[in-house]
Amino acid sequence: MAFEELLNDPVIQKYLHELVGPTGMPVAAAPPDGEVTDEELAEELGLELNDVRRALFILYENDLASYRRLRDEDSGWLTYLWTFEYDSIPEQLESEMHRLLDALNERKQYEQDNEFYLCGQCQLRFEFGEAMEFGFECPQCGSQLETMENSRLVDAMERRIEELREELNITDETDADEVTDA
Ligand SMILES: [Zn+2]
Repeated sequence: MAFEELLNDPVIQKYLHELVGPTGMPVAAAPPDGEVTDEELAEELGLELNDVRRALFILYENDLASYRRLRDEDSGWLTYLWTFEYDSIPEQLESEMHRLLDALNERKQYEQDNEFYLCGQCQLRFEFGEAMEFGFECPQCGSQLETMENSRLVDAMERRIEELREELNITDETDADEVTDA
């Protein structure tokens, strides 16, 4: 099997699992050395050919696999020879984490910059401006809107942001610029 070291990483396993799903995972998790056909994979892994093809196509769309076509001279049949290209996974994961971090920072800012009101009946949330427009009454059920504490949500976001920063080795000195540039 190729890329064994990469595939031992639970983060990478989870990443692949999210891409191809449980049915595609046997394909994604055991890339052979060199080229392989979809039929060979299906037979080797005891999977439906369609499931194998689906997984391969998802990997292809995410730049994690490539193929070349061979035409059989006699029958005219096309054979697809697949190669797994996992070298870029760590890089891809890292840029995805940067994107997530940016989004979280933005969302946290939004939560901190705004005041929110809640309808306890409908569990609908309104920004201050909206709540004021509705006269602090729920437009759906007419209940009184109440101020909503979101500090627990902000705390949870802060923890996740801290985790991501640690995983990405972002120190305070490298801070904001690098995060927004990524
Ligand atoms: Zn309501």
